[in-house]
Amino acid sequence: MGKICLDCGMSIDEGISRCPKCDNFLDSQHDGSITTIDIAHEGETVDEALCKMLAEVEAARNGVELYLRLIVGSGVIRDEVLAALRGLQADGDVKSFEVESSNAGAIKLRLK
Ligand SMILES: [Zn+2]
Repeated sequence: MGKICLDCGMSIDEGISRCPKCDNFLDSQHDGSITTIDIAHEGETVDEALCKMLAEVEAARNGVELYLRLIVGSGVIRDEVLAALRGLQADGDVKSFEVESSNAGAIKLRLK
């Protein structure tokens, strides 16, 4: 199962970073959408929450979402996720992130 070039609609195999038809860079394409994921309210441990977060970031980076919104609650998961996000940002896997001003239990990530 591959992905679709948002510019020309060509379906492309996994692992290809540039559309062979229109030459656009697929990793930077996005549809402007935001996906909300709750990683803290099903009794997750910190490790489980971090695993979920990494899996969601990876999936979203390969998809077309521009933003990912993580619901992290207010406890240790939030602190650990913020620390992990600083690492992801340093590696360039996440462009930027911020705690929502209206909801301190939610973090918005910009992926592309
Ligand atoms: Zn294309």
